[in-house]
Amino acid sequence: MDQPKLYIVIPCYNEQEVLPITSELFLDKLRSLIAQKKISEESRVLFVNDGSKDDTWNIIKKLSHKDEHFEGICLSRNRGHQNALLGGLMYAKDRCDVTISIDCDGQDDINAMDAMVDAYLDGCDVVYGVRAKRSTDTFFKRFTAEGFYHLMNWLGANVVFNHADYRLMSSRALQEFSQFKEVNIFLRGMVPLVGFKSTSVYYDRAERMAGESHYPLKKMLALAFDGITSLSVKPIRIITGMGFLVSVISFIGVLWAILSKLVGITVAGWTSMVCVICFMGGIQLLCLGVIGEYIGKIYMETKQRPRYIISEATEEDNRSE
Ligand code: UDP
Ligand code: MG
Repeated sequence: MDQPKLYIVIPCYNEQEVLPITSELFLDKLRSLIAQKKISEESRVLFVNDGSKDDTWNIIKKLSHKDEHFEGICLSRNRGHQNALLGGLMYAKDRCDVTISIDCDGQDDINAMDAMVDAYLDGCDVVYGVRAKRSTDTFFKRFTAEGFYHLMNWLGANVVFNHADYRLMSSRALQEFSQFKEVNIFLRGMVPLVGFKSTSVYYDRAERMAGESHYPLKKMLALAFDGITSLSVKPIRIITGMGFLVSVISFIGVLWAILSKLVGITVAGWTSMVCVICFMGGIQLLCLGVIGEYIGKIYMETKQRPRYIISEATEEDNRSE
């Protein structure tokens, strides 16, 4: 088998400080993988400029003139990390055999790429880079980030714990992934839906080499909210559950009101009023939940996700032998 052609896909937004440092590291890693004959000489580092307002695009252009292993694409405006990454992966998927996506700030250990490529050569189509520990993150960042994964999982958006967007995906997995036509994307939650053989590689997360984070708490919450609402209809289920609970409680309330009336400790009109309020409250919430269930179904239908993906067929095997 020929060596696979690898594309390292890197979204960049206002990264003029860090790019000159990390681009060399990426190139060194690519060269070392090529030298070990794990990947083809045609492999590339692909930068995606996400509508940066600083000198990022010029730096990328200069890099690509300097070394043929560097390539760049530029989005027409800032579309956010997830969209920029998707743009890069979709661009790469027809040009290579395998991709690795990574941030450009050097926080994710590039040395984990060796293990990722090994896993790919072993037959995995998806390899998740998972942070073993976050000793360099502040307590606040660690607490909020880990809380983020727990909340997401609890609300039905299953994500690989402590895995961000540092991952290897084969072009086959990407081809299938491109059938997911939805506009609100949360890549780390959607990739597991594609299936195929996958594994995890563990690494330590370092500090940003230069520049500032573009993911303050506000953006992280927005991402979590996006992830939950685009992957799961569990919040609607929670409303239905609450409706059910309130109905039960109001039933007890009705019994209590009638009992009070019988014992004779109420003023006139109180019983009927409490009964109506409890009853209506419960029924309304329950109905909202039921309507929500349908909306949830419509929502999932509009995404038109593939219902299944075939990973192997015996026919194909026979032909290739
Ligand atoms: N990024 C992007 N578009 C944006 C924001 C961020 O392409 O609108 C890129 C950024 O250049 C970096 C990656 O996404 O390569 C992750 O961002 P950052 O390091 O700021 O996030 P953190 O690691 O602090 O969560
Ligand atoms: Mg970062």
